Amino acid sequence: MTRRVSILGATGSIGQNTIDLIARDPQGYQVEVLTGGHNIAQLAVDARRLGARLAVTAHDDKLGALRDALAGSGIEAAAGETALIEAAARPVDWVMSAIVGAAGLAPGLKALEHGATLALANKESMVCAGALVSATAKAHGGRVLPVDSEHSAVFQALIGEDIEAVERVIITASGGAFRDWPLERLREATPEQAATHPNWDMGQRITIDSASMFNKALEVVETKEFFGLSPDKIEVLVHPESLVHALVGFCDGGLMAHVGPADMRHAIGFALHYPERGAVPVERLDLAQIATLSFRAPDETRWPALRLAREVMETGGLSGAAFNAAKERSLDRFIARDIGFTEMAEVVEEVLTRLSGQPGLIDAAMTLDNVARVDHLAREEADRVIRDRSKR
Ligand code: NAD
Ligand code: MG
Repeated sequence: MTRRVSILGATGSIGQNTIDLIARDPQGYQVEVLTGGHNIAQLAVDARRLGARLAVTAHDDKLGALRDALAGSGIEAAAGETALIEAAARPVDWVMSAIVGAAGLAPGLKALEHGATLALANKESMVCAGALVSATAKAHGGRVLPVDSEHSAVFQALIGEDIEAVERVIITASGGAFRDWPLERLREATPEQAATHPNWDMGQRITIDSASMFNKALEVVETKEFFGLSPDKIEVLVHPESLVHALVGFCDGGLMAHVGPADMRHAIGFALHYPERGAVPVERLDLAQIATLSFRAPDETRWPALRLAREVMETGGLSGAAFNAAKERSLDRFIARDIGFTEMAEVVEEVLTRLSGQPGLIDAAMTLDNVARVDHLAREEADRVIRDRSKR
């Protein structure tokens, strides 16, 4: 049976891996929508290759370029935020949510409102508005499947299990680019150095977030929201080889580990074929060859983001939205070389302190409008914190 699918963020790292799998089975899928950003050439090539019905760029000023690139193909072109959200509402069976950042939330919710299965790579959706995402899926008979490798691993380990029997969930972290750097050098780390990942080939932003552990901090919150676990059951373990993606510990002392190559096509393929298992062309691990796997406890002095994630889980409400937005803005400013690598966590912490002091903000109801409001204020506050610091 042909399945109708849409890919939001098709031109990115997860989007391209999703296309790789779908393109291998042209009879299996009818592609409805592909969305992208600045890379119009890639978007148009893929839309033509996959026979998509509609291609959307997030940028209004790129509509002409997209129309030109699709000329003669019969593929519709559209641009801008509203067009993107409308595109996500097109009726399909399965939607890949692979836009980076909080911008992925509204289109993902729209897809869920139309009953689609949402394959969620956009972890920011869960961090900013986990309860809203889950409630929307429930209300419209849709379902959310994790694509983040750790969460896919936990999901797989939980099949057939009772969540009440889960004692702990351990998600692993490679430690990123600066795992073994002396602490005093971190202050001087450049965006280029931070954007080099030892094991995974990912987008620039998530790669830098891996070096700062903000990625893992987001994933800890994502774990809580996705599986409804209490924060004290969630642990992070540094695992430099990135082959064990997560472990689930049960009340009888058993630990189920998910082991696989560092290739996102496994988790994407799992979500694509679910509830069945379909063949996915990833490398098969030769454990005798690999011989050893190593693990160590994370050091919160090196990675303060992990401590901040705990505080966010304790506070709850809209603090995840504030945390993510402050992180996104600090990352923008680090990439622009306005602040240093270690300052990102300091700025985020200060933003959280300032916003939690504003009555009725973080504990407001979780609606899309309130999430957007907190997101906006947190970005502004991050800029203000950075300005205040530069005056000192
Ligand atoms: P990427 O930067 O490679 O791609 C991002 C995609 O989103 C591109 O198509 C881009 O055009 C689009 N985009 C960017 N800003 C946008 C905006 N404001 N509005 C609309 N579209 C926009 O990112 P990625 O590495 O593929 O990551 C995508 C998501 O998946 C992120 O949430 C990331 O945390 C998550 N994720 C990625 C990986 C990975 O291996 N890359 C692994 C786990 C989770
Ligand atoms: Mg991950």
